[in-house]
Amino acid sequence: MTTNAYAAQNATTPLAPFNLQRREVGPKDVQIEILYCGVCHSDLHTVRSEWQGTTYPCVPGHEIIGRVVAVGADVKKFKAGDPAGVGCMVDSCRTCVNCEADLEQFCNDTTFTYNSADKKSGGITYGGYADSIVVDEAFVLKIPPNLDLAATAPLLCAGITTYSPMHHHNVSKGQKVGIVGLGGLGHMGVKLAKALGAHVVVFTTSANKVEDALRLGADEVVNSKNADEMNKHLNSFHFILDTVSAQHDITAYLLLLGRDGNLTQVGVPPEPLSLNVGSLVFGRRSLSGSLIGGIKETQEMLDFCGEHNITADIELIPIQNINEAYDRLVKSDVKYRFVIDMASLKPAS
Ligand code: NAP
Ligand code: ZN
Ligand code: ZN
Repeated sequence: MTTNAYAAQNATTPLAPFNLQRREVGPKDVQIEILYCGVCHSDLHTVRSEWQGTTYPCVPGHEIIGRVVAVGADVKKFKAGDPAGVGCMVDSCRTCVNCEADLEQFCNDTTFTYNSADKKSGGITYGGYADSIVVDEAFVLKIPPNLDLAATAPLLCAGITTYSPMHHHNVSKGQKVGIVGLGGLGHMGVKLAKALGAHVVVFTTSANKVEDALRLGADEVVNSKNADEMNKHLNSFHFILDTVSAQHDITAYLLLLGRDGNLTQVGVPPEPLSLNVGSLVFGRRSLSGSLIGGIKETQEMLDFCGEHNITADIELIPIQNINEAYDRLVKSDVKYRFVIDMASLKPAS
């Protein structure tokens, strides 16, 4: 099945039109016409080979929303016409201890949505900057009917990546929670932490995001470049979620945690970060990482967002503007997630 897409041919040239083949619909497969795809900073890290290990051509995109157009004979959850979502994974081994625990993201044999060995078709997987995709129904998510489809796309990665660690670390009513970086992940973190009842403090390097942070639900906003503002919050947080995509000082944030507080790193800067170990030792503080979330938890997050009417604040773009959007991401100029309108990919004729 020939599919229109946008691909990077190497780490330095712009993404450009590309045709790829999707597999035929198997008994357990769902074929989805992609309507919208969010633009994650991980797409940019991968396309520009900032994490190494990118196979070209690379078709990124793992915040996919579309409509089911065909289903295999054994598919139970979906029928043609249903809205459907696909996130960062399209398969896993299903039998290891992590799969058994509904944590497929930690399976040793996860098939990620793009730039991953494709065990079904050979080659590598191609993501959602495309007009269709074929995915096993076990990795396809149901979309709550009340949510706007374009603004729901970012929940498939930014939503689950911020929801999962807050859930794991029991973020709850009355706790003081920090969100570092107000980009795609960060703005979802603010909305979700607020919905969980936390007192939310946003740390930003962008003075022009302060009003938005308050509108999105933050109780306080700190200019992270101002040491006096930072010092007012020493030893006071239960939990801090760090979404920053580039080099920064994490010790400054560890020192803001109270006793037994946890800082979870979800941003993945390409270069190693250094830290002052004293900031962990005093206060018995801990530093963790977290990777997206399992499929069961992703569905839980979507249902939670349906109940609380939570979607992303998006800037809808035609796919022809993707390279410009990447340049803006690097400059932290995003309010707060770019989403590609896949109608723009249809051939002109
Ligand atoms: P994004 O929309 O570009 O947001 C990142 C934000 O970080 C920026 O808007 C900016 O916020 C802040 N920032 C950027 N450069 C900075 C610097 N040099 N110093 C301090 N702050 C800086 O990116 P995203 O899509 O949210 O992704 C963020 C990171 O998470 C990326 O590294 C991505 O690969 C990673 N990620 C991880 C997972 C996971 O499962 N762990 C999933 C998805 C993405 P302010 O303007 O407010 O300062
Ligand atoms: Zn992502
Ligand atoms: Zn497994």
